[in-house]
Amino acid sequence: MGARRMNHFADRLLAWFDRHGRHDLPWQHPRTPYRVWVSEIMLQQTQVKTVLRYFERFVARFPDLPALAAASEDEVLAHWSGLGYYSRGRHLHRAARRCMEQHGGELPASLETLAALPGIGRSTAAAILAQAHGMRHAILDGNVKRVLARQLGEPGWPGLPAVEARLWAEAEARLPETRLADYTQALMDLGATLCTRSRPRCPDCPVREGCVADAQGLTTQLPARRPAKALPTRRATLLVLRDAEGRVLLERREGKGVWQGLWSLPERPEDTTAPGGAPAPGQTAQPLPAFVHTFSHYRLEARPLLWPLSEPAAVAEALLAPADAGPPPPRRWAGPADWPAIGLPAPIRTLLESLP
Ligand code: SF4
Repeated sequence: MGARRMNHFADRLLAWFDRHGRHDLPWQHPRTPYRVWVSEIMLQQTQVKTVLRYFERFVARFPDLPALAAASEDEVLAHWSGLGYYSRGRHLHRAARRCMEQHGGELPASLETLAALPGIGRSTAAAILAQAHGMRHAILDGNVKRVLARQLGEPGWPGLPAVEARLWAEAEARLPETRLADYTQALMDLGATLCTRSRPRCPDCPVREGCVADAQGLTTQLPARRPAKALPTRRATLLVLRDAEGRVLLERREGKGVWQGLWSLPERPEDTTAPGGAPAPGQTAQPLPAFVHTFSHYRLEARPLLWPLSEPAAVAEALLAPADAGPPPPRRWAGPADWPAIGLPAPIRTLLESLP
């Protein structure tokens, strides 16, 4: 993006902010570093309308940094009560004490020193310096990541370091030369009020022109969601032991594993060639279509084997015995007429109902 177009972005955003932005937030009057800091920490996990209820009460009791540092942690947390995420209150208190000890009772005005205090990262430090001192630093909180990912049409998940680095570079490149406090607030307001996660109000957006997500119909897809964690895969053979009357042998799942208490098919490790590890006399297994079932913590790749049995049922149960270490689970023979009344896992029911 060229410099002129980026200024265009800031110009349009500021013009919109002058008309529609939030100018009456309590930490804007007066906009001291201490008050901006407290507001920024409160706003980290909480919406403005909730913070409004707590901010005034908090700064009335702790009007400046020395007052906060002098209070006990218990009292600070009591005034944080209701905002949740109490580690923020604890960090605020610890940072105030460190400022008393190491920074002459003031919040440092350098990005690196400020960002090193408890509970303040790079974006929060930049927001404080831009709003309280008009310093030219870019912010990149969750709302701004969303706005920029959509503006750029960034397809990657913003939590990835490479994607985050691109967004930081873009946030820096779009900074105006002046009015940094207003620009920072404007960007936050845009993310909080128009460019919301679900249903952004693009027709009202001052920076719609040049927004890739809007132009390409990608606003619901961007920013990209966190990629799903790859689940481990377990492969197993499901034994469909069927007697001459069409009944299959079911086992009740004991213990704490999946499908606990349900009736399922005997399951063996993937390379099973026979129920008990030895060929069943005179019988050939017929492979059925494999299927995948996803549990919350693993994927099961199941390979069902249909085993038509001519021997008495007792023989089939005896064949299963060697594979089990402890006492065998409860077993029963059940035909199609019984299945509807039996607690079967859904994929097992589907498999049984589709047996040839
Ligand atoms: S045009 Fe829509 S998606 Fe793009 S920045 Fe504006 S509100 Fe967000």
